[in-house]
Amino acid sequence: MKKKMLCLLLACGLPVLAGCDQNSGSEQATDEIVSATQDVFAMDTYMTVTAYGEAAEEAVSAAITEIERLNALLTATDNTGEVYAVNQNGGGTLSEDGMYLLERSLEFYGSTEGAFNVAIFPIMAAWGFIDDHFGVPTEEELNGALELIDIGNISVDEEASSVTLKKEGMAIDFGGIAKGYTSSNVIRILETYGIENAVVNLGGNVQVLGTKPDGSFWRVGIINPFNPDTGIGVVEVADCAVITSGGYERYFVQDGVNYHHIIDPSTGYPANNGLVSVTIVSSDGTLADALSTSLFVMGVDNAISFLEKNSELFDAILITEDGEISVTEGLAENFTCEQSFSIIKTP
Ligand code: AMP
Ligand code: MG
Repeated sequence: MKKKMLCLLLACGLPVLAGCDQNSGSEQATDEIVSATQDVFAMDTYMTVTAYGEAAEEAVSAAITEIERLNALLTATDNTGEVYAVNQNGGGTLSEDGMYLLERSLEFYGSTEGAFNVAIFPIMAAWGFIDDHFGVPTEEELNGALELIDIGNISVDEEASSVTLKKEGMAIDFGGIAKGYTSSNVIRILETYGIENAVVNLGGNVQVLGTKPDGSFWRVGIINPFNPDTGIGVVEVADCAVITSGGYERYFVQDGVNYHHIIDPSTGYPANNGLVSVTIVSSDGTLADALSTSLFVMGVDNAISFLEKNSELFDAILITEDGEISVTEGLAENFTCEQSFSIIKTP
């Protein structure tokens, strides 16, 4: 519930896109640059696509169609596509999109040493995040769910483009990666229409194409995890995705304790490893989404050593529960923030 409210604010331009045109519909700006914007509710959040250029209106319509297609295909909760069917039947065939996402998810499982686990669905269900009947599961329920997230029980047949979930009750959840894949696909579609400047905002996860039409960088606000209706800083970027994972995005409170939706697969509990927000900046939206979730799970020390080993692939902004902000070297000059922050040196 919280997430929907928050994203509504973000769709209004607060505070994710500082200084970005957020009007609806198509318009001829005073400097003669044509732009178009459309909103859609998909993947449990409000999404906005804005493009600039001659074909902006057509391009944005095609982008919205793509978002709706991927939403129907990849949802694990509505009976509209292949992920739901695979989960119901213990396997089945997948489209090119589904196979790509599954294979990349399995790669991320390896590279993050299990922090990213695409089979997390039974744990999400045990905590009530699937049907919104939130509650702390019993130890027995949690242990039962933990037995169903063993990635070794997912078998992929590339030639047949199919997957088998070897244990009854296993289920795939692309919730940690689907939005980044969607924004990457949307950018590709906009490019086929000759668009050179665009911004896709999927509930606060942003991917930009090129610069702003005037040649300046896009300014993407980073939410203050301690007061999510406000921003904590702004990052200036071109041609990349800026994707944040934070416990504040979806959670419930029981007996005064806050339980959020990003699960540490090693315990089955919401990750509680010292980080309250992780932003990944990368030209690869799918990677940015998967790794924002993964680094949140890893916690600050493991996240920093992961960053040091993989610094060529992405930049990051980490915020700890003590309010300390760390930014990778590659991003430091493009990040502004009212409080001081430290710089993570990368090789
Ligand atoms: P994000 O907002 O991208 O961090 O994604 C959070 C969503 O990813 C959750 O709502 C779940 O659907 C899913 N998820 C939660 N924990 C994990 C995990 N450890 N690995 C992969 N996906 C996860
Ligand atoms: Mg993610």
